[in-house]
Amino acid sequence: MVLERSGQPLRLAELPDPEPGPGQVLLSVRACGVCRTDLHILDGELSAPKLPLVPGHQIVATVAGAGEGAERFAIGERVGVPWLGWTDGTCRYCASGRENLCDNAHFTGYDLDGGYAELAVADERFCLPIPAEYPDLQAAPLLCAGLIGYRALRLLGDAERVGFYGFGAAAHILCQVAVHQGRRVFAFTREGDAETQAFARGLGAEWAGASAERPPEELDGAIVFAAAGELMPAALRASAKGARVLSAGIHMSEIPAFPYEILWEERTLGSVANLTRADGEEFLALAPRVPVRTEVSAYPLERAGEALEDLRAGRVRGAAALSILQA
Ligand SMILES: [Zn+2]
Ligand SMILES: [Zn+2]
Repeated sequence: MVLERSGQPLRLAELPDPEPGPGQVLLSVRACGVCRTDLHILDGELSAPKLPLVPGHQIVATVAGAGEGAERFAIGERVGVPWLGWTDGTCRYCASGRENLCDNAHFTGYDLDGGYAELAVADERFCLPIPAEYPDLQAAPLLCAGLIGYRALRLLGDAERVGFYGFGAAAHILCQVAVHQGRRVFAFTREGDAETQAFARGLGAEWAGASAERPPEELDGAIVFAAAGELMPAALRASAKGARVLSAGIHMSEIPAFPYEILWEERTLGSVANLTRADGEEFLALAPRVPVRTEVSAYPLERAGEALEDLRAGRVRGAAALSILQA
């Protein structure tokens, strides 16, 4: 499925088979998660550096070939490809353990063709091991929703009362991790979305309500997964002294002005960007121990556009993923 111009629907196309370059593997894609970021690229809120583009950055695949010097994986081995597809390894961020901020990073399904396809190529150094416990579709949302969400959760330190604003793919995974870690989860959804609120409670949230509501207790930390800027001051207003409020999305509408008093007392606002390979390895080792169960709505590849529209409308419970496995 190809994006030719932002603002246009994806188009089903027959492309030449990609050739793995030096250090790359050729991948037979089995499933690919559908992420809010894909929608931002489609809509032009993020302008794709590469067009036409094959989107998709939560790839579950088996290795089908290898380019020159690529020896890490055997043919047939199952791997995951996340958003971080390549870094220079030399900039000040890479040199200080922060490759997620690399000045010259390439991102899967953005600078590089991604997984809304039957075949893909990827740098073998940026592929991740997929835990054997997870079928292909259930593994897909771990690769972005799960692991970028996990990076955000870790940045909340030991916050006990944690708020999640927007209870979609990421929060449904992180809720389980947070409860496993002994935290208390407060879930915020669109107003009147009783079904998602019940879903959150079923995954261990002790309270669920609308995003403008005040939770029964103040939050020690919050992660804003939804792309609505007004949720940042809303989360600050719900927060205790010293709380951290983080946006985990790549794009957000403008944050409205707010009075300093809701930031005072060492509350902080921040953001979480991308992932490091270490984040990926750490989270994928943790997920089966929780164990995280992902709820996935599956779509065939050619219905990727429908999956994205369902995501936009809030019709997806848990995560959406494309099922691409060929017979
Ligand atoms: Zn993503
Ligand atoms: Zn770098």
